[in-house]
Amino acid sequence: MNTGFFWDERCFWHSGGNYAFTLPVGGLVQPLAAGGFPESPETKRRLINLMNVTGLPRDLDMRGADPATRTDLLRVHPASYLDEFKRLSDGTGGELGRRTPFGSGGYEIAALSAGLSLAAVEAVWTGALPNAYALSRPPGHHCLPDFPNGFCLLANIAIAIESAKANHGLGRVAVIDWDVHHGNGTEGIFYDRSDVLTISMHQEGNYPMDTGALIDRGKGAGEGYNLNVPLPAGAGHTAYMAGMDQIVLPALDAYRPDIIIVACGYDASGVDPLARMLATSDTFRHMTLKTKAAAEHLCSGKLVLVHEGGYSEVHVPFCAHATLEALSGSDITAPDPLTEVLDARQPSARFEGFLLELVQDMAQQLSPEAITPG
Ligand SMILES: [Zn+2]
Repeated sequence: MNTGFFWDERCFWHSGGNYAFTLPVGGLVQPLAAGGFPESPETKRRLINLMNVTGLPRDLDMRGADPATRTDLLRVHPASYLDEFKRLSDGTGGELGRRTPFGSGGYEIAALSAGLSLAAVEAVWTGALPNAYALSRPPGHHCLPDFPNGFCLLANIAIAIESAKANHGLGRVAVIDWDVHHGNGTEGIFYDRSDVLTISMHQEGNYPMDTGALIDRGKGAGEGYNLNVPLPAGAGHTAYMAGMDQIVLPALDAYRPDIIIVACGYDASGVDPLARMLATSDTFRHMTLKTKAAAEHLCSGKLVLVHEGGYSEVHVPFCAHATLEALSGSDITAPDPLTEVLDARQPSARFEGFLLELVQDMAQQLSPEAITPG
């Protein structure tokens, strides 16, 4: 069996309205001659194109999926939100939260994006696929039940988890979010629950600016089951590897999940316009390899990656290709032309020393003692 890859051209037709970067056009903000909203289809479409050029689909099980149903969406989102979203979407589109504009038909595209995640989780959980990747768009990890934000209109991963729990008895889930922005939506949805462990490694104070603190550990039954690893701007490959080895993997070992889901954003890339980190395509490759090894020894390899952010049209395809090589074990490669320059821009020894000390300190404070194994 090959790694599943879930995608649909219609997800690339989601339109983000009249923006110049993250600013609505108007007043002193002039419309851009080209481009516009940073959450553009090009990052994902160019990934598909790169895969077609290298031949990677030969080693994957390329699939589509049905849109998530209203029943699926209602497990996470209130009817009032879905109704309003559908009403605007049936017209010319609109905006219901913060930085989440959508056009006509946006509701159906978002439901399809959630459906790709849902189908990937279901196929892996039921054993139809060993592991899988969902190229979901729009993304989901910022979305709260009734407040879409940060380009996210539906909480794709949460919807997939709740559906697999309702329909297939899915057990304990660990969600690792390595998108450079804090996974505030996933955190918020599962904050008081111990059946879903949420871990977010992100750039401190990027987006949202007021969430993602080290001390936010969950509440009630969920106390201890939320981990935030806020890294300072400028952190690179070594800090990410240390975060994985010293914080993420020990938490997984302590929790013993039945499946691991990754909110897989590529905006920690050293050339991403929406963040200030220095990850390389090898960073994503090695985070995937480490997570895959953990899944193999903890949960029969059950691992699903769901595409989140990543805004460099040039770099995202190479980072995602490296991730897919690691996930699938394919030897079809896409050598990253930016590796040399990003390797040369890694933090200095002095800053690296500070970052490693910081990760060590966070690892002590986030010790997985509070986590009870399943
Ligand atoms: Zn992001």
